[in-house]
Amino acid sequence: MRKNVLIVGAGGVGHVTAHKCAQHNDILGDICIASRTKVKCDKIIESIKRKNNIKDPMKKLHSAQLDALDIPATIKLINDTGSQIVINLAQPYVNMSLLTACIKTGASYMDTAIHEEPDRGEEEPPWYANYEWPRRDECRKKGVTAILGVGFDPGVVNAYAALAVKHYFDTIDTIDIMDVNAGNHGKYFATNFDPEINFREFRKIWNWIDRKWRLDKVHSVKMIYDFPVVGRQSLYLTGHDEVHSLSKNIDADSVRFWMGFSDHYINVFSVLTSLGLTSEFPVKTAEGLEVIPLKVLRAVLPDPLSLAPNYTGVTCIGDFIKGTKDGKGKEILIYNICDHARCYKEVESQAISYTAGVPPAAAAILISRGDWDIKTMVNVEELNPEPFIERLDKMGLSTIVDEKPPSLKPILDIKCPA
Ligand code: NDP
Repeated sequence: MRKNVLIVGAGGVGHVTAHKCAQHNDILGDICIASRTKVKCDKIIESIKRKNNIKDPMKKLHSAQLDALDIPATIKLINDTGSQIVINLAQPYVNMSLLTACIKTGASYMDTAIHEEPDRGEEEPPWYANYEWPRRDECRKKGVTAILGVGFDPGVVNAYAALAVKHYFDTIDTIDIMDVNAGNHGKYFATNFDPEINFREFRKIWNWIDRKWRLDKVHSVKMIYDFPVVGRQSLYLTGHDEVHSLSKNIDADSVRFWMGFSDHYINVFSVLTSLGLTSEFPVKTAEGLEVIPLKVLRAVLPDPLSLAPNYTGVTCIGDFIKGTKDGKGKEILIYNICDHARCYKEVESQAISYTAGVPPAAAAILISRGDWDIKTMVNVEELNPEPFIERLDKMGLSTIVDEKPPSLKPILDIKCPA
């Protein structure tokens, strides 16, 4: 049984994972939260105590300062804390360093976003082939469990695709992953997680369409879908990590990722981008100061954590899957609804961080118990989905399967003006 968890990263997602691990520390053992800024970890510990979310008070809940790019320091922290499970919830720049530390110590590794280099050029799909998958053999030889992208999307949506293959379809035509936040945070403009990472998602829109990679311009393909609970929502074709693994691991003609945005969001984003403020390339001010516009934007936008207390409404994230079963055409929607205010009440967070932060804690329990301790590197769709979905249900994220959802096809591919 694997025990003691090291959570790296003390942002919105790390906050939720820490709460959830603490709620299950009778299974998971000691929990250490480490980040570049230790005081952020201490604030999470205060929040966990305030909400009385520690199951076993005899287990250690502590913090540490760590730069996860420093591999020897990370190895030392893993050893000093006796951590056998490491959950990476820092920025995706640290994935490869943290994975190296895990391979060297034998600890299990998890993350929720694909590796990125700060100065990455234009990477070709499938993105996991650039950094993660080449290290699979290393994990297998060392018997190290590495679960890639185990948040909600990527993560739970990959498990939904695996569930569809296992139980609902003989063949799959299309997997449409749809992510909608029908919530209101009361600010003029804000991103729901790290703005720097969020805006980098809108660079190149790669999707797997008719068994080929297709490149689209950001926000150039729109559709409207009539969701359960939240009704009609505008969605835009967006590139995302899970498209890159699902295209390889699941036999589907098309895998697409759609994200919901309001007209207001699209307008503000278009202005910021037109002005160059979402750029990651440095500019020089009149005073000779070199700054990266995207980092300045990150500094002025609201901290995603600060949105939580006043957030209302819900998120709806799921997979619309089209294929055949017993020779007949079939469509299903597998989804979750998550309420912002309920998340705040339970763990002092909003639903975006909650949906991303609960799954790695659930996966840690599955690794600890052995169900998912597979001793090699995998994406979530390669694992048995049922224990995960059952565990998520117990931990606050329930799954609904609608076998007669509103159809998606008639309103696809509305081209937006350039
Ligand atoms: P935040 O920016 O709020 O937090 C990131 C945290 O990581 C900060 O505490 C930061 O420390 C810390 N950090 C960054 N670099 C390092 C480093 N080198 N060493 C140690 N700590 C470091 O991000 P979020 O919590 O919003 O997101 C966390 C991760 O989750 C991201 O990778 C994001 O892409 C992913 N995500 C995944 C989702 C999914 O569903 N799969 C959904 C949402 C997010 P400091 O503040 O001190 O700089």
